[in-house]
Amino acid sequence: LSLKIDAALKKITGQGRLTEANISDTLREIRRILLDADVNYKVAKDFIDKVKEKALGKEVIASITPGQLITKIIYDELVELLGGGHSEIFLNPTGATIILVVGLQGSGKTTFSAKLAKRLKERKRKVLLVAADIYRPAAIEQLKILGQQVDVPVFSLEQKDARLVASESLKYVKEKGFDTLIIDTAGRLHVDEEMMKEVADIKEIVKPTETLFVVDSMTGQDAVNSAKAFNETVNFDGIVLSKLDGDARGGAAISIRSVVGKPIKFVSNGEKLENLDVFYPDRLASRILGKGDIVSLVEKAQETIDEFEAKKMEEKLRKNKFDFEDFLKQIKLIKKMGSLSSLIGMIPGLGSQIKNAQIDDKALVKVEAIINSMTKQERENPKVLNGSRRKRIARGSGTTIQDVNRLIKQFQEMQRMMSMMNKKGFFNSSNKNFK
Ligand code: GDP
Ligand code: MG
Repeated sequence: LSLKIDAALKKITGQGRLTEANISDTLREIRRILLDADVNYKVAKDFIDKVKEKALGKEVIASITPGQLITKIIYDELVELLGGGHSEIFLNPTGATIILVVGLQGSGKTTFSAKLAKRLKERKRKVLLVAADIYRPAAIEQLKILGQQVDVPVFSLEQKDARLVASESLKYVKEKGFDTLIIDTAGRLHVDEEMMKEVADIKEIVKPTETLFVVDSMTGQDAVNSAKAFNETVNFDGIVLSKLDGDARGGAAISIRSVVGKPIKFVSNGEKLENLDVFYPDRLASRILGKGDIVSLVEKAQETIDEFEAKKMEEKLRKNKFDFEDFLKQIKLIKKMGSLSSLIGMIPGLGSQIKNAQIDDKALVKVEAIINSMTKQERENPKVLNGSRRKRIARGSGTTIQDVNRLIKQFQEMQRMMSMMNKKGFFNSSNKNFK
């Protein structure tokens, strides 16, 4: 038992600060992971430097290791770099929504166009797909087949002029009352001027409400170059990461983001037409780091046990000054945690003592209401809680006098238990009995 307590105390007192020495291993590992995931060398280096600058000197809080903390910092930076929140497509409320889909050949434009058509149709939009890839004979047929599968009509012309297809499709839309247009364009295997000119012309003709650049997640480094070229030509609004199923780590997204600075909007992750997700930076960050578990664990610990609060609480426990105000804070923490048992697990040594306390969520709500109805003085000094005060509190909190009495009794018991543990030196980390 004493060994266990010792370990627990070590956890709660923390392990000092992040230093070059205790983060260098993790940083080296992360750099390797980023490079493996196809992040551009320079981007990875800048990223690591930035993380290092942020991390050095940070205090390592209760119950996590320096390695975990630095992973968490890296993860947060990555989420930030990938765009913070997520942004959806712009649906024009006043006129037609015109989405132009661009990218290299084989990047997944046609597949994505059909997936997006399905998605928007499900949102009650009147969607038309436009086959502006007129070069490969099979391209129009491919879009037609996909269109059929998602029950969305496809506009095409048997002519070798993509610009004409684009302008004619606009007329057709007006005639037939579609409100959403998805234009699938041609791509080449490599960026070339003719293709860029055509895409730029189509953009000029249709004046899209949104231009989306589709990029194959597996192509890694090349993806950055094509993203740059397309961005310079058509100044796209968002990125679609395709083929993010299978092994692709999606690291190219980091490079693309940092080079062109446009938001990633969708993730296309499978050949089936329902395999389309809105982009969530945190998911991709986890995927790139391949450390979903650590990240969520660290996150949970850090979110809920604020380092400063934990220290203050420890100090109060030690000095036997834990009052209702602190009790309330603990309850808020518990609520944030989601479950009582997980919090108990984080209070070293306390777990077994109050495991059978049987506090359910409803009871917590009640307790919170009762404490909220106490004055500051009452919270800090529960001894003043006489009969008339208890009655007032019950009324104020919508509970009964029995509820209030019960809580006060539980609180007193807890205080007694804590003072007992204090006498045993439980909260004194330098106590030799527990080494
Ligand atoms: P486009 O040339 O840019 O129009 O690319 P396509 O949409 O024709 O896609 C090229 C190939 O990649 C096809 O064989 C697609 O089935 C496949 N593909 C497209 N998107 C995905 C995806 O998200 N996951 C997987 N596994 N394959 C995809
Ligand atoms: Mg295509």
